[in-house]
Amino acid sequence: MGTSAREILEEHAGGMRDGVRFRGLLPGGASTDFLTEEHLDLPMDFNELQKAGSRMGTGTMIVLDDKTCPVGMVWNLEHFFAQESCGWCTPCWSGLNWIERILRAMEEGQGQAGDIEKLAFQIRFLAPGNTFCALAPGAAEPLQSALRHFREDFEQHIREKRCPWK
Ligand code: SF4
Repeated sequence: MGTSAREILEEHAGGMRDGVRFRGLLPGGASTDFLTEEHLDLPMDFNELQKAGSRMGTGTMIVLDDKTCPVGMVWNLEHFFAQESCGWCTPCWSGLNWIERILRAMEEGQGQAGDIEKLAFQIRFLAPGNTFCALAPGAAEPLQSALRHFREDFEQHIREKRCPWK
């Protein structure tokens, strides 16, 4: 606790591989918001991460590099959450399936104008208090922050009708 993400990554985890650039970090596992380069020197503790718009979560850091498509990464995460939904709450089972389908279409070159707005709209229904457990709000976190930090990548998928990483 209190160690910076930079120190954890560069000293204790051995740093980025040669030729690979850091782009983002899920500091507390799949159900937390992405942090970016500007956050690397924050001390990893509950208050500081909350101020930066994320959470400690499970404490399991996941790094996004520039060789990995952020849309594909978030699709993979939302696919997981959609599969894990128990089906009790409509915003979760229906919303996550809808989100997963939109992201898959984008990744497969079938994204449509307005898809980013549809994703942002769906995220609102996954907010805390709208569902019985924390799975749905957790699922919203990587997506909402990816749309904020990597929006140009989502737009590029739609504009070029392809995944630039493929
Ligand atoms: S939010 Fe929780 S309780 Fe509701 S459908 Fe999703 S997994 Fe089930």
